[in-house]
Amino acid sequence: MVRLILLGPPGAGKGTQCKRIIDKYGAAHLSSGDILRAERTAGSALGKKAQSYMDSGALVPDDLIIDMMIAAMKKTPKGYVLDGFPRTTVQAKGLDKALANAGEKVDAIVNLVVDDSLILPRMTGRRSFPKCGAVYHVQTLKPKVEGQCDKGCGSLVQRADDKPEVVSNRLKTYHEQTSAVVGYYQKKNAVILNVDASREIDRVSEAIFQKLDSLK
Ligand code: ADP
Ligand code: AMP
Repeated sequence: MVRLILLGPPGAGKGTQCKRIIDKYGAAHLSSGDILRAERTAGSALGKKAQSYMDSGALVPDDLIIDMMIAAMKKTPKGYVLDGFPRTTVQAKGLDKALANAGEKVDAIVNLVVDDSLILPRMTGRRSFPKCGAVYHVQTLKPKVEGQCDKGCGSLVQRADDKPEVVSNRLKTYHEQTSAVVGYYQKKNAVILNVDASREIDRVSEAIFQKLDSLK
């Protein structure tokens, strides 16, 4: 059973690599962004509260996110890979508290390191099918039939917050509020596995697997 946190800027490849990690090691993929989008689709109170923050590229308030993610973690007794959470040091502290209460510990933090210059093309080229969670890229990870999900779900969509004007806000938000989370874990002497995520998808997966296997 694994319990991991995946950190990195938006578009670093967290969701893409999480899917591969859970295929190899088991555990549940808990993406705060995916959970929020599902809440919005369901029209829940949380989804409605999150909407304006997400559309502008800002962060949803910490208390809402912490409660949402702790609730999701409690439903996954076989371990989890956290994707997109924690995104502030307040969220990291909230997570620490919940883990301590549950007598749990994460095995490692996988930190995807990638330069800003690679982020814009990755995010603007991202296409997905929200219901099945499949994520493609118009250049680096093309579906078999252009614009269609390989699993036969239907037409792929571009996320509204992947349009260039929102992407630059999300990157700004990352540098102002999220990049400090790595420093938070460094100070706590957590196991941090830094991975160069500027390489192609398969090479990044291999590097992650190698580092995770060496922990055993
Ligand atoms: P995140 O979850 O960190 O926001 P994603 O996993 O959704 O990022 O990846 C963002 C986009 O970049 C997707 O379209 C994905 O197919 C593509 N992508 C992911 N990793 C790489 C990579 N190493 N090289 C090129 N494109 C990538
Ligand atoms: P993502 O799918 O991870 O790119 O997240 C999409 C959007 O959801 C972000 O731009 C934020 O508005 C919101 N979001 C996702 N995770 C968090 C989080 N941990 N804290 C605050 N907001 C979040």
